[in-house]
Amino acid sequence: ETQDSFFSVRDIHAYYGESYIVQGVSFDLNKGEVLSLLGRNGAGKTTTLRTLARLDNPQLRSGEIWLNGEPLHNKKSHQAAQMGIQLVPEDRRIIGGLTVEENLVLSQVSGEIGWEIEKIYEYFPRLAERRKQEAPTMSGGEQQMLAVARALARDIKVLFLDEPYEGLAPVIVQEIEGIVRQIRDIGITTIIVEQNAVAALRLSDRAVIMDTGQIVYEGTAQEVLDNEQLRHEYLAI
Ligand code: ATP
Repeated sequence: ETQDSFFSVRDIHAYYGESYIVQGVSFDLNKGEVLSLLGRNGAGKTTTLRTLARLDNPQLRSGEIWLNGEPLHNKKSHQAAQMGIQLVPEDRRIIGGLTVEENLVLSQVSGEIGWEIEKIYEYFPRLAERRKQEAPTMSGGEQQMLAVARALARDIKVLFLDEPYEGLAPVIVQEIEGIVRQIRDIGITTIIVEQNAVAALRLSDRAVIMDTGQIVYEGTAQEVLDNEQLRHEYLAI
């Protein structure tokens, strides 16, 4: 079977135990595209990302996920990671007791090496300044940068960012936006789940809006920004 798009999600259904959460989600992404996955609290966005990253929980009960013609739906999370899928979760999972540099090195030893540490420091000068600092003592924005940098230290093709801007000051949001733009420019496909819909949309090509586990709208980022009804009903902007 040949697959046209780079990353293809086809009618996925996912459960937490008996709770039916993701109820038939489908979309396609080209290489290097950035997608905003938006919707109200509890719509199923995080659950969708976790399903796509092939984490054990939720359970994918039907549907298909394809990366560059390879099936992901029959893979475990570590295999998905080896294939180039990385999820940066909302809590960022910074490893305590380790410095910035140790966090980056640890990420490299657990998979195919992506960016070299020195290249990461070129893109993230703040992390270079803090390479010997214990990671949990950094600011929220710096920790988010480290979480993204750790993903780049692996050989990734698709990056999922869950609420990357949460709790960050606008100036730091802009800094992280700049980094996501650079990630896009080197051809990494990105999905952003974000409550700050305006910030997510301004660096996205397309947007999907979810409600109660289903897609209620799909369009370009500009179409969503121009649609007052959608903005009011689902995005509170
Ligand atoms: P938010 O922005 O609030 O995180 P979301 O769109 O990401 O919203 P999800 O976190 O995917 O929504 O949650 C979707 C539904 O799944 C919610 O009803 C939530 O209570 C439920 N849910 C989430 N995690 C679990 C879990 N581990 N076990 C059972 N139900 C869960």
